[in-house]
Amino acid sequence: MRYALLSAGLFLGLAGAALPPPWAWADTPPPPPAPAPQPPIPPLARIWPVGVRPLVLRGWEPPSTPYGPGHRGVDLSAPPGSPVRTVAPGRVSFAGRVAGVGVVSVALKGTDLRTTYEPVTPSVKKGDELRAGDVVGTVGPTASHCATSCVHWGLLRGETYVNPLSLLPPWLVHGAPPRLLPVLGVPVPR
Ligand SMILES: [Zn+2]
Repeated sequence: MRYALLSAGLFLGLAGAALPPPWAWADTPPPPPAPAPQPPIPPLARIWPVGVRPLVLRGWEPPSTPYGPGHRGVDLSAPPGSPVRTVAPGRVSFAGRVAGVGVVSVALKGTDLRTTYEPVTPSVKKGDELRAGDVVGTVGPTASHCATSCVHWGLLRGETYVNPLSLLPPWLVHGAPPRLLPVLGVPVPR
């Protein structure tokens, strides 16, 4: 009898182990796999795209869904006609007009990242190699995007928009560039 119970238990256990996962017979599809964690954005920028430290008129507001409302970039205050520069070395992947607005895109060297600047009247063409700080064009006439003249700065990893301010190292966000300071308190050699 004990043997029979044991066998039954074993059988049930085996049967349970062999059961397909719950979603195999349910109407609902299996849950989507969790997105793979993305590596952090490297702080590659050596300058801001416009000015020295421009006012951020509107910040990064990621949409909750891929097509939901949000702000896929940041708006930087910049007067019309002022130069727009690439923040890091790269190659121009697009320079032209999209829906009547001048756009320059730069694929950043050694990364899967791409920056976009608009509205910009381009002074570069597709394929141009750029060093950090090279001018890509001038601020174009502002459409309805900002109340005052601005440049919308975007950053993409593949087809996903990410926060372009992630490219800025802390010294660019918070203060002046690092510089060599005079060494104090060291006796002058005679
Ligand atoms: Zn914007």
